Amino acid sequence: MTTSVALLGATGSIGTQTLDIVAAKPDSYRIAALGAANSVDLLAEQTRRFRPDVVAIANADRAAELAEQIPDSVELLAGEDAMADAVSAADTVVNAVVGFAGLPVTLAALESGKRLGLANKESLIAAGPVVQRVRGQGTMIPVDSEHCAIHQCLRAVDSPEQVAEIVLTASGGPFRGRSSADLAQVGVADALAHPTWRMGPKITVDSSTLMNKGLEVIEAHELFGVDYDRIEVVVHPQSIVHSMVTFCDAATLAQLSKPDMRLCIGYALAYPDRLDHPYGAIDWAQLGRLDFEPPDRQAFGCLDLAYQAGRAGRTAPAWLNAANEVAVQAFLDERIRWADIASVLDAALQQWPGAEASDVAAVLAADAEARRVAESLVSGASGAAVDS
Ligand code: MG
Repeated sequence: MTTSVALLGATGSIGTQTLDIVAAKPDSYRIAALGAANSVDLLAEQTRRFRPDVVAIANADRAAELAEQIPDSVELLAGEDAMADAVSAADTVVNAVVGFAGLPVTLAALESGKRLGLANKESLIAAGPVVQRVRGQGTMIPVDSEHCAIHQCLRAVDSPEQVAEIVLTASGGPFRGRSSADLAQVGVADALAHPTWRMGPKITVDSSTLMNKGLEVIEAHELFGVDYDRIEVVVHPQSIVHSMVTFCDAATLAQLSKPDMRLCIGYALAYPDRLDHPYGAIDWAQLGRLDFEPPDRQAFGCLDLAYQAGRAGRTAPAWLNAANEVAVQAFLDERIRWADIASVLDAALQQWPGAEASDVAAVLAADAEARRVAESLVSGASGAAVDS
């Protein structure tokens, strides 16, 4: 049987890797919908190749340009709601939209009872309480490598009471082992040179600050209902153990593979079955050693800021996530230094007003306000950087 797939965020790293799988398994998967925010040329090329029924472009100003490059038989949706509307075209949705803009896709997929492969961690992190309310209407499978690993380990137990601890592994990013003083001078190219994973620029910077891991701690809490005291982060530079679960009898299960997101995407597409294609297969005789060490919480302050926001709950994770998007963009634009990212977020979190995440509007309001606060902190930090 062929599974129809709506792929939103088709032109990014997860999107293109999802299409690799579909291209490799044409008898199992068919692309029914594709969507992207802005990248018209690549989206048009993907459309001509995968022949979806529906194509969505979030930036309505670029719809005419897209229409010229795709067959007339393809239905074209344009505008802010286009990607969320496109989920109705398929049974399985892969949400690979970058950032907070992915929330409507997550909600639409769950509300309409779809199976959702969730690569857009921000929608769950920022709007966890809102997503929880509709979660049971669909099936949510995490595409994030750590959460995919945990999801697999948890299939070994019948009851959440048997879970003692979740252990999230972190590669440590390009700056592992470097001191705060050393990190004062690093630039954009340094932060984008990830040692083990190839990903988009936003998440690669998040990986360099350990904010990615911090956001994943919140994501794990939301996905698996384990409280923050029982979620540990351990640095594992080889990125072979993708995360672990320790049970009440002290047994630990881990999921191991080479770092290849196609394994996680394939897991979400095939679940509860397994993709019969060995992405990320390990040559055990050649693997060598696996190392583990504690994270440097002082040099990488973003990790504890995420725990702090997670424990505060309500709109604090949304606030931190939005402020982080602003700070990372400011770093990529070379308006602030790498070390300023954590300082901006620390200051931003102190201005969090404590609002409840009662509905989408409340989350959107927190998101917008956090962006304003972070933007003004970025201006202050970039002024200071210029002065020094
Ligand atoms: Mg991850």
